[in-house]
Amino acid sequence: MLPEEMDKLVTEMGQPRYRADQLLHALYHDSPTDISDLHQIPAALRDALTVSGYTIGSASETHRVTSEDHQTTKLLLKYGDGTLIETVLMQYPSKTKFHPRSTVCVSTQVGCAMGCVFCATGQMGFKRNLQAEEIVAQVLHFARALHERDEHVTNLVFMGMGEPLANYSETIRAIRLLTHARAFGLGQRSITISTVGLIPLIERLADEQLQIGLAISLHAPNDELRSKLVPTAGPNSVKELFLASKRYFKKTGRRITFEYALINGINDSPEVAEELALLLKGNGAHVNLIPVNSTAGGFQKPERRRVHEFQRILRRGGVNCTVRVEKESEISAACGQLRTDVIEKITSSRSS
Ligand code: SAH
Ligand code: SF4
Repeated sequence: MLPEEMDKLVTEMGQPRYRADQLLHALYHDSPTDISDLHQIPAALRDALTVSGYTIGSASETHRVTSEDHQTTKLLLKYGDGTLIETVLMQYPSKTKFHPRSTVCVSTQVGCAMGCVFCATGQMGFKRNLQAEEIVAQVLHFARALHERDEHVTNLVFMGMGEPLANYSETIRAIRLLTHARAFGLGQRSITISTVGLIPLIERLADEQLQIGLAISLHAPNDELRSKLVPTAGPNSVKELFLASKRYFKKTGRRITFEYALINGINDSPEVAEELALLLKGNGAHVNLIPVNSTAGGFQKPERRRVHEFQRILRRGGVNCTVRVEKESEISAACGQLRTDVIEKITSSRSS
């Protein structure tokens, strides 16, 4: 619940308003899993909440994989209806602060309808949207574990399973819950939404008066190539996305990152790099190259030499460019891969 909704609830139950703050603090910072754990409030109110049918949304962990350096943890979480989704914690030692940077990567949908050919989530098809509370539960699940080590969630990226803008209202509600000072209290500037590029919704997001960052998954400098990788992309998507990114920057003051999954022999040639540089140069855009994680589609990442050549051409053409650190590949890092791996194991053990 948003703080305003909690205020209304406690008032309607004949309770003083400060009970709303007690409840919010307990829910977002102590991470209880059941109303009976809420010892901050009187037993009569706990009972009244239970009788009225209120529950605390949470998710249970069914699988966990941790990278060798212990900095990346990927979980498979199960919701009440048996739905499985992935969520990831990535930690980076901080040079300036005592605590590490702890970024949670959340899923917004079970599966995805966009069908990107190299993406494990895209290949499983669309199952359902997640509700805001199910998105929030992913963050709180890690927050609880970090709290025990005296650490906390510092950043949030919407780069897990699903297309956040295709589940627009629940994604925005989750952001409001996670950033409200009386709720979880994360800074808006610490949040990035990644989108495959639903243009009308990028426009709507720009008008939300939020200070969140936007990453657009471009993957190609022209429509012919892009439509092979993102089959649901419109005929003019490259140019339209480029223009939408400029408008987003103008309205919010936040620079856009273009994500580019580099796939061996498909979109990684020096000529394609030149074309991308021509498209983006002089706009202050940032490109994040992601050597692709191979999934069932059989796509391979280019050799390291070729990745660096691509990066050099972009930089020479005046485009800011980084290569995403490849530390997660050992733990089925690509979105949807762990869920696919686990479900395959479950079904093959059932059939054997
Ligand atoms: N639907 C959104 C956010 C989730 S995907 C989007 O597409 O942006 C987050 C990022 O992971 C996207 O940039 C996507 O292109 C990338 N991705 C998906 N599958 C991948 C793979 N196998 N290897 C590398 N990156 C991948
Ligand atoms: Fe969906 Fe993003 Fe995967 Fe494309 S890359 S299928 S938009 S989750």
